[in-house]
Amino acid sequence: MSLIVQKFGGSSVADAEKLLHIAHITKETRGAGHDVIVVVSAQGDATDRLIRQARELAADPSARELDALLATGEQASAALTAMALMSLGVDAVSLGAWQLPIRADGAYGDARVTEIGTERVARELDAGRVVVCAGFQGVGANGDVYTLGRGGSDYSAVALADAFRAEVCRIYTDVDGVYTADPRVCPTARRLSRVSYEDMVALSRAGARVLHDKCAVLAQERGVALEVRSCAPDSVGTRVGAEGEKRAVTGVTQRAGGADAFAAVTLVGGAVPSLCVQKKALLALDAAGIAARGVDASARSLTLYVDRARADEAVRAVHDAVVD
Ligand code: ASP
Ligand code: MG
Repeated sequence: MSLIVQKFGGSSVADAEKLLHIAHITKETRGAGHDVIVVVSAQGDATDRLIRQARELAADPSARELDALLATGEQASAALTAMALMSLGVDAVSLGAWQLPIRADGAYGDARVTEIGTERVARELDAGRVVVCAGFQGVGANGDVYTLGRGGSDYSAVALADAFRAEVCRIYTDVDGVYTADPRVCPTARRLSRVSYEDMVALSRAGARVLHDKCAVLAQERGVALEVRSCAPDSVGTRVGAEGEKRAVTGVTQRAGGADAFAAVTLVGGAVPSLCVQKKALLALDAAGIAARGVDASARSLTLYVDRARADEAVRAVHDAVVD
């Protein structure tokens, strides 16, 4: 039977109603004849809340204990998701990183997945269960729980999709796919039907918050087929794979960058960096009365530094000038 990995972010598991909604989506995937591994994030802003709780006790809490604390957010939502599935008559089991196991090494708060044990999950799938994995965590050689970096459940999902040779890894998020710019900032942004791994990695590194950058890198390395979509029934989403849409500029994104008061606005795409694109972008900033504080070019990307307070405006101006 073919296997599908479905990852749901924090807002998709935020309360009982949302949990039942994703349980219905999962039940449908089962009904279409697939085995399913579900990967979940912590509910809503649970991770931020846990960080605040830690900081009430220590300005600089122990990294080990902070990981032990944060990992509980995903463990709770995994168990709740399994319960929601069972309430719909779908047999399900939640598993923490130590139970698979998902092995990780590196630093607390920013570990990477090194290996995934497949035996337990295979047994559960064979028994007809949906397996719900807690995202964002792994277990270190020392037996400690390590988290994988903020937003790391995307990365967990791709690592699982790779380990189990899933047909596709579906990432369910707030937005209905990958856009040419953050649609919350830039109203003219368009959804891309396909994005190449190369562009997805470049966009994620440049600050696009749609996918964790380690997730995009791993998907590219291992050739994992990704689909980014929302939980809405009419969501079409974006396919991330070897081939993207043929566009000169795929997207424009922003992050804090350069000096403290600066933001980095980055253009990504096959025709970037080129003098023509650079000129169009600089002219657009100029027309909007935004000063370019610096320019940086690298493979498939061009970064313009602007004052942080003008970053959203800069994204809109550059987007409208270079993305067709
Ligand atoms: N809950 C973690 C975070 O907020 C991981 C994730 O959502 O993917 O960063
Ligand atoms: Mg995320």
